[in-house]
Amino acid sequence: MRRACAKMWPVTEGVVVGVDIGGTKVLAGVVDEMGRVARTALRTTPGRRVVTSRVEDALVEAIVEAADDQPIAGVGVAAAGFVDSAGERVMFAPHLPWQGEPLKHLLEERLGCPIGLDNDANCAARAEARYGAARGATTALMVTMGTGIGGAVLLEGRVIRGANGMAGEFGHMQVVPDGQSCECGRRGCWEQYSSGNALVRHARALMVEQPSVLDDMADGKPDLITGPMVTTAAEQGDLVAHRAFASVGHWLGVGVANLVAAFDPEVVVVGGGVSAAGDRLLEPARDALSRTLVGAEHRRVPGLVAAALGPRAGMIGAALLVAGDQPLR
Ligand SMILES: [Zn+2]
Repeated sequence: MRRACAKMWPVTEGVVVGVDIGGTKVLAGVVDEMGRVARTALRTTPGRRVVTSRVEDALVEAIVEAADDQPIAGVGVAAAGFVDSAGERVMFAPHLPWQGEPLKHLLEERLGCPIGLDNDANCAARAEARYGAARGATTALMVTMGTGIGGAVLLEGRVIRGANGMAGEFGHMQVVPDGQSCECGRRGCWEQYSSGNALVRHARALMVEQPSVLDDMADGKPDLITGPMVTTAAEQGDLVAHRAFASVGHWLGVGVANLVAAFDPEVVVVGGGVSAAGDRLLEPARDALSRTLVGAEHRRVPGLVAAALGPRAGMIGAALLVAGDQPLR
């Protein structure tokens, strides 16, 4: 598929801006060819129940502020939602008002430069493949663990977007028949067992069995427990928190084994807020991966590694949409 333009770097005049729009904030930054971020600008996302032009205003403001009076050569947009396969529209987003408006076209008219648009996890995967934890890999998977699970598929140097632009939505693969009910209306989805929400649920269930510092942290009200509380408790050596991470990690490895069976990647990168737990999450996941992966004894089991670029990955990968040559290698 043709992107807005290719090989814009090195730009002779102006700057390339990457912008990441999520449910709470808009982060824009000038990104250079080495993936370095020179100057950023932040706006609050206006919300879901506003006219779409207000969200576009916030995007344009952040982009213009980040560019700081330099001409803008191109802008890449990473959006937390479903982007159509042509990379022109946000079809639906849980926290944004767009429902199929031609966002790429609208921004091109307002900013007068080429615009690239893709889903935030796809953008993060591009950045990790070019500059981060999957650097040098041509076939890689990204699994983003936040409230739920998202992801991206990089096959032979290209991010695979799918017929509807919805490839890589791994969180709703069924891993437990008739299991835990999911917000999507079905049961047993992977993200019900391995995600920020799942971490909290595991911790609450385990607190019934043994004492935990989480009791004090949440004033004795298990409903008040949050993911960051479980992380803090684990850092303090709390056994319940450790067991909750072991459980989430185990299910992470089980789901990743299915993905590896399908795609045979060189590496699997785990990003998103929960991945900050590092080996506390990844060790049990690696264990489960090598035990459940088909043909593990006859293949090189791919590395399961934490993302390297943190919350800026989406913004950096967005810049690659307009400025980087495709495929990645
Ligand atoms: Zn689901």
